[in-house]
Amino acid sequence: MTTPTLTTTAAAVEVHGAHKWYGAHRVLDGVDLTVQPGQVAVILGPSGSGKSTLLRAINHLEKLDVGHVSINGELIGVRRHGERLKELSERAILAQRSGIGFVFQQFNLFPHLTAIDNVAAAPVATGRAGKDEARAQARELLERVGLGDKADAYPRQLSGGQQQRVAIARALALRPGVILFDEPTSALDPELVGEVLSAIKDLASSGTTLIVVTHEIGFAREVADLVVFLDGGRIVEQGTPAEVLDNPRHPRTREFLSKVL
Ligand code: ADP
Ligand code: MG
Repeated sequence: MTTPTLTTTAAAVEVHGAHKWYGAHRVLDGVDLTVQPGQVAVILGPSGSGKSTLLRAINHLEKLDVGHVSINGELIGVRRHGERLKELSERAILAQRSGIGFVFQQFNLFPHLTAIDNVAAAPVATGRAGKDEARAQARELLERVGLGDKADAYPRQLSGGQQQRVAIARALALRPGVILFDEPTSALDPELVGEVLSAIKDLASSGTTLIVVTHEIGFAREVADLVVFLDGGRIVEQGTPAEVLDNPRHPRTREFLSKVL
């Protein structure tokens, strides 16, 4: 008989009992999610199911009404019905947020900055690096996403796929432990989706913890350790790709997959 081992490693991301309302509209309805260090979690779900709200809560862009999030075991928000047990300072929130990268559907690059300055901006602004050091690092990151030759291009001179790869390099610039992607390929022409997914796959194999909201089922099957199906603000089903994608137990998951596959 093997003795069960207790792991003491903290989860990279832990969401516990998350509830969120917009007025009378319940958007998150008791979400519990644990993502271990180095894991890739893919979140699937129909439009309006709360996927973006969940990512935004993890990154403090949205406050939970009830529940908490911890990053690497560090609690970053505790709320119970109607009370605020712990309110973090803006400074603490900013410090924690700088450990989390966020890549948006619409890239959100600074239009007036070149690719290299988009990537170097946050390390300079946060005082993590001087300008020369930040630019040298930015050049390496652009090379890593296959854009070494586009360092001096402005966003408007780049394709959507290239802009999204700059956004990925920018997310990497603060050396985050966790990167959140909110439908990173949904705004792209189909022929540009592959280059962005392949940049994300490279990150996955480098051991960065990733949480990716996407409808790209092939990507989920290939890369995800954990697939989570969200519907109506609840996790209906979660498990390995083989479990959730190939043998979904819940009728809602089956119905959703039949539409996107
Ligand atoms: P998803 O990303 O899965 O499409 P969202 O998390 O964006 O879903 O939104 C979940 C629900 O919350 C939707 O019904 C949406 O209309 C609503 N919602 C999102 N943001 C707001 C907001 N700022 N104010 C009011 N309702 C919102
Ligand atoms: Mg969304």
